[in-house]
Parts: sequence; structure tokens; C-alpha cells
Amino acid sequence: MHTVIGLEIHVQLRTRTKLFCSCNADYFAAPPNTLTCPVCLGMPGALPVLNERAVELALRVALALGAKVQETSRFDRKNYFYPDLPKGYQITQREFPLALGGELSFRMDGERRSVRIHEMHLEEDAGKLIHTDEGALVDMNRCGVPLVEIVTEPDIRSPKEAREFLRALRTLLRHLGVSNADMEKGELRCDANISVSADGELGTKTEIKNLNSFRAVERALAAEEKRQRELLGRGGPVEQVTFGWDEHTGTLVLQRSKEEAHDYRYFPEPDLVPLVVTPDWLARVREEMPELPWEREERFMREYGLSRKDATILIEEPARADYFEEVARACGSPREAASWVLSEILRYWRDEEPPIGAEALGRLITAVKSGKISRTNAKEALEEAISSGQDPLEIVEERGLSLLSDEGELRRLAEEVVAENPKAVEDFRAGKKGAIGFLVGQAMRKSGGRADAKKLSQILLELLGSS
Ligand SMILES: [Zn+2]
Repeated sequence: MHTVIGLEIHVQLRTRTKLFCSCNADYFAAPPNTLTCPVCLGMPGALPVLNERAVELALRVALALGAKVQETSRFDRKNYFYPDLPKGYQITQREFPLALGGELSFRMDGERRSVRIHEMHLEEDAGKLIHTDEGALVDMNRCGVPLVEIVTEPDIRSPKEAREFLRALRTLLRHLGVSNADMEKGELRCDANISVSADGELGTKTEIKNLNSFRAVERALAAEEKRQRELLGRGGPVEQVTFGWDEHTGTLVLQRSKEEAHDYRYFPEPDLVPLVVTPDWLARVREEMPELPWEREERFMREYGLSRKDATILIEEPARADYFEEVARACGSPREAASWVLSEILRYWRDEEPPIGAEALGRLITAVKSGKISRTNAKEALEEAISSGQDPLEIVEERGLSLLSDEGELRRLAEEVVAENPKAVEDFRAGKKGAIGFLVGQAMRKSGGRADAKKLSQILLELLGSS
């Protein structure tokens, strides 16, 4: 048996205004029904005007995926009734979409995978229903927010691969600056179709709608894959149906069967002229393209000598990659910067902003490099700086965490430890060289972790007469 999966992904484009009117598109925290006008509410006689910026952001995605941008594309009406769609139709592109083809490559379990893109097009979002105990409420703020829909070829072979593809797509969209692509906020949404069949046969597709987390995509597809396998195992046919997914119970919810399939009565949108993307316009968009994530990954390896693994984690989020580069500049040591960001900073990074400024971290790393503070104490100061917001070097100063490397003080410590631990001294002299570690540890503890371990063990060896 083999599994075939295709995805349809809706991405909200980060424009200031909506796709066909000048209403504010930043609806997320706005009070319901405050960002509307006759155009996005579909009042009679209101005419749509295409948002040029939305087209440019969609073109960026097309170019990054290597798709073929169609010089002329067209808008169509998709007719259906739903309470969150006041016009009674959605403006989309069906017959002549914005771009055809392309592919996205990514790595899964160290292996390179590639998923081809069938087509991508522009369309407007619908409003939102809010279900309450007293009934459903409707919020039209999202009506007309620009979306780009990306349809893949059925190239995906497992639920996990579907999730990894989406993660790679999100990374790309964020680097391109076209969308935050936050699935929890509905800025990236996914419908999936899947068919399981015996090798060499064509399976029947089923569809799962409105998956809105990476986890949901993988779990829902795994559940449906299992269901189809069991059906086929019993000899029963798979029927062409559409499911929703209940994340809380982890179950598929039947939405409609084939008989209930919609007929959307598509026809060309009469209020909009065809969209013409001239070669000049496309060239301008190409010039403004930011560095792509895979280009950045290669550059991090080449320029900073990072491993593939480290570079991959750093470029996952553009904010993370930017932060790493700032820290690297501030401390002059990219590898140290990568190590601190990956092993210390990421644990604390929750919001969009990094937990500590790049300059402050850079100065702390420099202090460790130049031997002013031990790595252990630097980590302690960093942890405190992150929770208090104070500069880590100020904390080092105030709490006396700087490295103790004064010859005289170290010698005094060493002498004390030798006097207090005759057994360990005896062991060492009797040939148990490991006893030196115990003595260093004791002196270290006396110094509150501040002693320069290297100098300390030299002095101890000297006192014990073996250097
Ligand atoms: Zn409007």
C-alpha cells in the first residue's frame, strides 16, 4: 500500500489594506465589524479595485518557488451561500491563475525532499462566524483580506512529510516578508487530500478541511491514512468524502459525501479587468526579493563555518537568523554566537522579540572569550539578566562573578584545600592522579565557582610537587 497526499494552502498576505478595497486588513485584534465598507460587504453597485501590493507579495512567493508567472491572469466568481460571505460569492482565480508550476525543496530526516506546485492564485478571504451559547455571531472584518492559495501536486508520501513541507513553506513565507504565516491566527490554513492504494493502483481521494496547526495536519492525515488502510484491508471501497478535524478529541468529523458536492457556478468576474503582470513589473519584484532561507543557510555555513544542522535551526525563523548575525557581529565570533544562541537563548525565546539584546549578549560572550568570566558564571548572569532585564555584565560586576585569576589568591585557596584534605593529598602522592580533580573541585567551591580552573590546577600540582 502506498499513500499519496496533496495540499491546498491558504496564506494571508501581509498588506495594509484588503484585496479589493481600502479597509484596514489588520483585523486580528479589531472589534467585530469595524473594518468594513460597501465593497467588502458586497453592497449593490460597489466596485472592487485590485490591491497592487497584494499582487506583488504573491509574485514574490511565485518567484521563490520557481513558478511560471502568467502574464495575464483573470478573476472569477465562486458562488455559494454562507453567513460569513455577504456578497454570496468569493472572488478567486480559477481558469487563469496567477502562476503555474514550481516546487519547494526541504530536508526531512537529513534527506532532501521536493514537492511540486500545481498552481497558485489570489483570492479574498471570507468573514468569520463566532459560535456562542446564544447562537452564531458574524464578524465581517476578515471579508476581503488577501489570500494566496498554493496547490501542490500529490507528491507527498506521508503525514509527517506533509507537516515538514508546511514548516518549510512557513519559513519561506516569513523570510519573504509576505506573511507571518501563524497557523494559530489563521494566517496559514491547510486543506489536505489523501488516498491510500495498493501499489500500481489509483486510490480514491478523501479530503480533510481547515487544518490549523502542524500537529493537526500530521494527526488528521495519520488518522485518515489508518482508516483507509483498514477499509482496503477488509476489501471495502473508500468513498469520496470530506472531513473536518476535531483537535480536542483527535477524530475526523464527516462533513459531506460526494452527492452533496458543491456546484459553485464559476464565471468570470465582470467588475475586474484581467490582471496583467508585465515583464518590467516582474523584474522589479525580482530585484526586491529578500535573501531566500536556503540561500541564507548556505551563506551561514560558508561565511561563518557553521554546521548544516546549526545553520538549519538558525534560519528557521528570520528573526532568529537576524539576531544570530547581530550577536556574531557584536562579539566577533560567529561560532561562539551560534553556540550561545542555540544552547542558551532559544530556551527562553517565546515572543517575537529575543529575550536579551544582541549587543548585551555579544559583550558577555566577549568577556568569556577574554577570560574575564567563566562560562558557568556567564550562563548564570545571562539567566538572571533575562529574568530581570538588567545588563548581564552589570550582574557579573555586582555579584562578583568575574573570574578569579589572581595568582596570590588562588595559591591561598590551594593551600587551604591541601591542608584540609590530607586523604586526597595522600592518594595523589600514592599515584591516584584522579585525586587532583577532587582538590580542584574543593577549591572551586570555596571560590564560589569563580576560580580560573586551569591556573588553579597548575598551582595545586605545583604544591603537590609534581610539576
Ligand atoms: Zn472594505
